[in-house]
This record gives sequence, C-alpha cells and structure tokens, in this order.
Amino acid sequence: KLHNTILELKGNIRVFCRVRPLLPDEGSISEGKIISYPTSMEALGRGIDLVQSGQKHSFTFDKVFMPDASQEDVFVEISQLVQSALDGYKVCIFAYGQTGSGKTYTMMGKPGLPELKGLIPRSLEQIFQTRQSLQPQGWKYEMQVSMLEIYNETIRDLLSTNRSTDVLNSGGGKQYTIKHDVNGNTQVSDLTIVDVRSAKEVSFLLNQATNIRSVGKTQMNEQSSRSHFVFTLRISGVNESTDQQVQGVLNLIDLAGSERLSKSGSTGDRLKETQAINKSLSSLSDVIFALAKKEDYVPFRNSKLTYLLQPCLGGDSKTLMFVNISPDASSAGESLCSLRFAARVN
Ligand code: ADP
Ligand code: MG
Repeated sequence: KLHNTILELKGNIRVFCRVRPLLPDEGSISEGKIISYPTSMEALGRGIDLVQSGQKHSFTFDKVFMPDASQEDVFVEISQLVQSALDGYKVCIFAYGQTGSGKTYTMMGKPGLPELKGLIPRSLEQIFQTRQSLQPQGWKYEMQVSMLEIYNETIRDLLSTNRSTDVLNSGGGKQYTIKHDVNGNTQVSDLTIVDVRSAKEVSFLLNQATNIRSVGKTQMNEQSSRSHFVFTLRISGVNESTDQQVQGVLNLIDLAGSERLSKSGSTGDRLKETQAINKSLSSLSDVIFALAKKEDYVPFRNSKLTYLLQPCLGGDSKTLMFVNISPDASSAGESLCSLRFAARVN
C-alpha cells in the first residue's frame, strides 16, 4: 500500500498542506495571486509555490489540497490512518496554521451541515461503523473519550461537569498532572474520561466541549482560538475467538493560531498567551523534527502539549500534520511562516 510505504520512509510522519478558498470579503483581484501549484510530474498534487514581495518560495509536501478540495476529498486521504487506530496504533493528527486559515474547518467542519463535516466527526463515524463490521469476526471494542485544552501551558478539562469552579481556580484547584505508565499509556490526573458507544454520543460531547472552549478577541479574529484543543479516543479491542488484543489511540488536535506576536497587537494577558502558544508550537516542531531525524534526544518535556502526547508521537505511532494556509495576499507573510514550519517537520 502506498500509504504504508510513505509512512515507513518518513518515520511515520507526514505533512499535508490545505489551502482554503478566498472568503467573500478577502483578496481583491488587484492584489494578485500569491499561491500557485506546480504541475511538473514530481510536484503534481504535492507542490505549492508562494510569492511574497516578488520572491517565489517553493515547497513540497506529502499532499497539497487546493481550495476546491472538499471535506470528503480530505477524509479519503486520511481514512486509512484513522483505521490504523483500530489496529492498535497510536495516531496523532494536528491542524497547524494562523487564525482563520481553516484549522477548525478541517478538524470539525461546519456544524449542522453534513457534507461540510470535518475529519473528527468523519473519523468517529468510520470507527464506529468499522467496529460494527468487525463484530462477526469476534472483535469487541471499548472506546473512551477525553477532551482537553491547553491554555497558557495549563490543562483544562472540557468534559468536567463542575467546570465553573475549575475556571475560577485556574492555576489553583485541580492540577491535571501528566503521567506516563510503563505500558506507554498517558494518565492525566482528575481528567474526565467518558465511555462511549456511538458516534452520536461523541458528537454530543464534542458540542459540549466546543461550546466552552476559551475564545478571546484579537485584531485578527474575534473568535480566535488561543488554546490547543486535544480530542483523544482510546480504543481497546479484544477478539473473543482468537484472544488477540489491541490498544489504539486516536488524538485529533486543533492547535492554537500560529500567528506571530506583532500582527496580533498583543499586550498584557494576550502577550502571555502568545508567548505560551509560541513556546508550545516551537516545542512541537522541535519534537517532530527530532523524531523525523531519528535523534537520540527528543525534547518532549519542553511543553505540556508534547509531554502529553509523548507516547503517541514516538515509536511506531503515526503522525499527520495539516498545515492550513490562507490564500489572501495580506496573509502572505504568515502563510510563508506556516509553510516553513511544515517544511521543517516534513
Ligand atoms: P481557524 O480555525 O484556523 O482559525 P477556521 O476553520 O475558523 O480557521 O476558518 C476561517 C473561516 O474560513 C471560517 O469562516 C471557515 O468556515 C472558512 N473556511 C476555512 N476553510 C475552508 C474551506 N476549506 N472551505 C470553505 N470555507 C473554509
Ligand atoms: Mg479555529
């Protein structure tokens, strides 16, 4: 299979680039096109060129989705990866990019519009469907979900039932310390873990969680996400006729906006947020870079995000990074930064 070949060659790390369409209020024609797609044999479907200040920058990834790619087109390319969580793999799929570049659209999609569902709901539907189809062969699966966000290097439980006290006491109260046991399982103390039996149940929990995610106002986007959202599905399967056992994990992560400090006009609390975001995004890049280069030392402990995901990033786990790109000329600088970030981990 092509997928597996790529995974093996690249140490289980892949990078997909997705360029969203121009939004109605963006990019007058006079600003010119800044993004194009090379059509040479070797770059077809994998290359992207960006022109900034008259200079062309070329990048190649495992896959480039052009603005007309549908949610279904994108899911088709990741469904095997999602499936491997049922086979006992640990999988991480990240969405990286500046605020407004399409991370949440890629991960969650548009609520209420089935054809615009993102890869989290699609993955869950596929997993629960497959679970059912494997039943006749003796497979029984148990699924558990947790959802958290990392804000200012602090974990918040998005499924906690007494969240109000949690928010008031942020810093104090629950500590949510991260521990990895000998089997490579992650435990976050006090974190709510919910047993789930259907995609519908998970979608209910997802709604609940997204409604309470922290949002703030910046000059760039009123609803900009300043925290990392980490959705985790733990899968444990046992085959009652063969006694085979599998333990897989699927992590789907909508990262905080990667925009640089000056552009957000940050001061005070916002400055602290931005510094925390920068720190964890650069730690993530360092970790993936070290893993891709098979370095002996991987700096997992430099941020909460990388420490949390440590067992799901190394070894034979599988990682996919989406780098989301805004196509408008005013985002050229940020888009170039995102492409460079992704090219480093690619
Ligand atoms: P982010 O989460 O990176 O801040 P969003 O996912 O909220 O960005 O996307 C910003 C805006 O662009 C939203 O209005 C979203 O609906 C729209 N959008 C993003 N990606 C696409 C896409 N592929 N097709 C159509 N609209 C998109
Ligand atoms: Mg978002």
